[in-house]
Amino acid sequence: EPVPSAEMDGFCRIFGVETEYGVAVTGAEKPVDAGQVAMTMFQPIVSRSRSTNTYLTNGSRLYLDVGSHPEYATAEARDPREALAQDLAGEQVMRGLALKAQAKLRESYGEHATIHVFKNNVDSAGHAFGCHENYLVRRFVPLEAVEHQLLPFLITRQLYTGAGRMTPDGFQITQRADFLDEAVSSATTRSRPMVNTRDEPHADPDSFRRLHVIIGDSNRSQWSTWMKLAVTHLVLCSIEEAFRRGEPSGFEDWAFVDPAAANRAMSRFLDAPDAMLPLASGESVSALTLQRRYFRAVESFVADHRETMDSAFVAGVPVTGLSGDAVAGSPTTTILGEWDHALRALEQGDYDALADRVDWAAKRRVFEALRRRRPEVTFAQLEQLELDYHDIANGRLYGSLTARSQMRRLLTADETERAIHEAPQDTRAALRGRFVEAALASGAQFSADWTHLTVTAPERREAVLLDPFEAAPTPEFSQLMESLGR
Ligand code: ATP
Ligand code: MG
Ligand code: MG
Repeated sequence: EPVPSAEMDGFCRIFGVETEYGVAVTGAEKPVDAGQVAMTMFQPIVSRSRSTNTYLTNGSRLYLDVGSHPEYATAEARDPREALAQDLAGEQVMRGLALKAQAKLRESYGEHATIHVFKNNVDSAGHAFGCHENYLVRRFVPLEAVEHQLLPFLITRQLYTGAGRMTPDGFQITQRADFLDEAVSSATTRSRPMVNTRDEPHADPDSFRRLHVIIGDSNRSQWSTWMKLAVTHLVLCSIEEAFRRGEPSGFEDWAFVDPAAANRAMSRFLDAPDAMLPLASGESVSALTLQRRYFRAVESFVADHRETMDSAFVAGVPVTGLSGDAVAGSPTTTILGEWDHALRALEQGDYDALADRVDWAAKRRVFEALRRRRPEVTFAQLEQLELDYHDIANGRLYGSLTARSQMRRLLTADETERAIHEAPQDTRAALRGRFVEAALASGAQFSADWTHLTVTAPERREAVLLDPFEAAPTPEFSQLMESLGR
């Protein structure tokens, strides 16, 4: 008999965000390719860990596969706000590596050599790379429910979480739509699914799945990163509760006939905001209508479960920097308020109202203002500006927007700084962080993954951390730490 717990029976969740970055170099005196730049960025990591795959003292994973897309995967967080802090810490870590590598590169490639690290999803050659959201989901939710009930939400969610992309034939509100073709698949390489079902829960496999969402864009906007996690969480809570009770969720009839086509149509929202998308039920709806339906259903679900849902969030850290009326509310009130507000702006066609929090709207406003001021501006120049927006190493545009309060910030620089060094304290990431710190200080050889901490030499010792919610040291963990002199 499983013991009832808030983690299993309530609305607790684990959130993680994986971000792949694009790397490029300009101003070099002789040719240097992105792969070489990425390797230079990872030199300090390799000399520290003898590998391009490592875990940091904040519990996150930093790695470089073959090629030139360094990746940062945030430590397990219980709250979208903490996940945001960890994701922003990842930007700072990448930026630090890039600036160090740039100084090194300049010794051989001239003083103008400049490294660009793009937090976007498509490179100049048209290759796409990812931003994966990870959600711990209770195993009793079948995968078909994810496909039929969640995917229409994930597709239309991009109305306010899309990063936007300029193309020669118009402005798309998402980066990845043209590159995703299958709704659900267990492979990320052969096909490009929107949700990956590879079964690696990094937790007790009898109780949990790890839902691996591929469809989303990488966001510069703090609001969008927070929002996509927060709203998806609420929708998942409704689906989970329906299966827990054996009742309908209300989302059963909203599956798209062709999710990939719906996703591409969505991406062209600005060309045809009222485009009708066929549902498997026979009905056709616009993307915005469908989002509004999800909003209403979730709003009434939350009204019935507000207290338990609020208690799943980390107490005492309100989300600030949001639109007026929502600030003082409970976590769920805040999320619903922001969601409603965003949908209302879209319904009124007032896209500029979102330009301080939605990446596509922010970029669009900048481009349009520039076109008005300088009608002769070329596509190539706008493309440069767009890349600059996504460049977390040397870009200026995004920073100048936040500095002028034209882009909202949810977290202060101090909070991000803290997350560079400190893991979330209420998940197993706290233990991983302490372990990595102790191993580095003692000079022991170590390795780790999400569920294992291992000292490999002088003597092999290991601790298994199967429960992502558990931040208290197990006896095994304490022994491991003792072996490191702690
Ligand atoms: P790939 O890079 O090939 O997609 P992967 O999806 O296994 O591999 P990682 O890059 O290692 O993923 O990142 C895993 C992410 O999942 C991290 O952000 C981590 O915080 C998160 N995570 C770890 N355990 C859980 C869990 N039990 N439930 C949900 N998320 C988890
Ligand atoms: Mg990954
Ligand atoms: Mg992944």
